[in-house]
Amino acid sequence: MIPFNRPCVVGGEEELIKEAVVNAKLSGNGPFDKKCTAWLEDRLDCTRAFMTPSCTAALEMAAILTEAGPGDEVIMPSYTFVSTANAFALRGAEIRFVDIEEKTLNISPKQIEQAITPRTKVIVVVHYAGVSCEMDEIMRIAEEHGLWVIEDAAQALTSTYKGKPLGTIGHLGTFSFHETKNYTCGEGGTLIVNHQPLIERAEMVQEKGTNRAQFSRGMVDKYTWRDLGSSYLLSELNSAYLFQQFKNIDQINKDRMERWNQYRDDLQEVTAIPEIEGPFIPEQIEHNAHMFYLKCRDEQERADLIGYLKENDVMAVPHYVPLHSSHAGEQFGTFIGKDNFTTRESERIVRLPLYYGITEEDVRHVVKYVQIFYQA
Ligand SMILES: *Cc1c(COP(=O)(O)O)cnc(C)c1O
Repeated sequence: MIPFNRPCVVGGEEELIKEAVVNAKLSGNGPFDKKCTAWLEDRLDCTRAFMTPSCTAALEMAAILTEAGPGDEVIMPSYTFVSTANAFALRGAEIRFVDIEEKTLNISPKQIEQAITPRTKVIVVVHYAGVSCEMDEIMRIAEEHGLWVIEDAAQALTSTYKGKPLGTIGHLGTFSFHETKNYTCGEGGTLIVNHQPLIERAEMVQEKGTNRAQFSRGMVDKYTWRDLGSSYLLSELNSAYLFQQFKNIDQINKDRMERWNQYRDDLQEVTAIPEIEGPFIPEQIEHNAHMFYLKCRDEQERADLIGYLKENDVMAVPHYVPLHSSHAGEQFGTFIGKDNFTTRESERIVRLPLYYGITEEDVRHVVKYVQIFYQA
């Protein structure tokens, strides 16, 4: 069976974990945490990175930092992972789901604009499949209305928009290192703080709401409870594993990109069939080969394709069920505007196996059975 995903192992992770054990410092903000944040700040040329236990945790920190709460509205796509919405529902804010663009499956700037009310406080964008949203337009809208912009860049580390790294354009950005993402440590994440005035509070929110970071730097002689917060630190064991992946990130990217391009090139006859589509990469955007998907004609055809691939040892999978139609989504949010694409596109998308180390031969196998299914 060709799995849909395999967690990335580049080699050498064990040595760094051993080093972390020898360092005898396993809690957060240790030597490997510092190496990871320094690497991110350098690579992304950003103000400040905080290693977190997950992207979910980073989104929760972002929600606390924007002070979104009861009576405030937060605009986001319905076509996203639950954590994007959960972080704000936990704060008591109201979620305003809006439609996506047909081609990229990213939030529609036009729909954002139409959903803004005097109570709107935050826009959360999701760079789906590591492909950038229309950030110039979104930042313009946010500035005009005085709104926070958070980039849920969970899938988008190393992707860029007009040469600028994703996660560094909004006021705050978040990354995930879950095992399903390009670069991983099992569970892990990062909060990027691009807006300087939020840095001091972010340090406290990450450290259970205390000023422990200032204490560590010798700035205060004891640390106390100062703000809302939680335990938003990444263990050194995870940071050690992750740092090895950061050091080899270009190798990981090259490998994924080669297989992604192979899918794109070899499935051209299939994506030429009317109503069948592959990923769309807009101009001036570099993606990170996070995901290769096809859009089938409808939900039934997708089920048939997934079944046929399974019979031929290939695991292909759908993706998000739109949040506005989920049980909790109905309770905590409302869809604003018309659902032209969210439900329809979510019903026909199928993701093909793609992970670091998948062989050219395995991709050829997947392609072959997709072609046979479509008689292409
Ligand atoms: C994976 C993902 C998350 C959650 O990441 P975790 O690190 O598992 O918490 C959030 N948002 C998006 C868009 C994701 O793809």
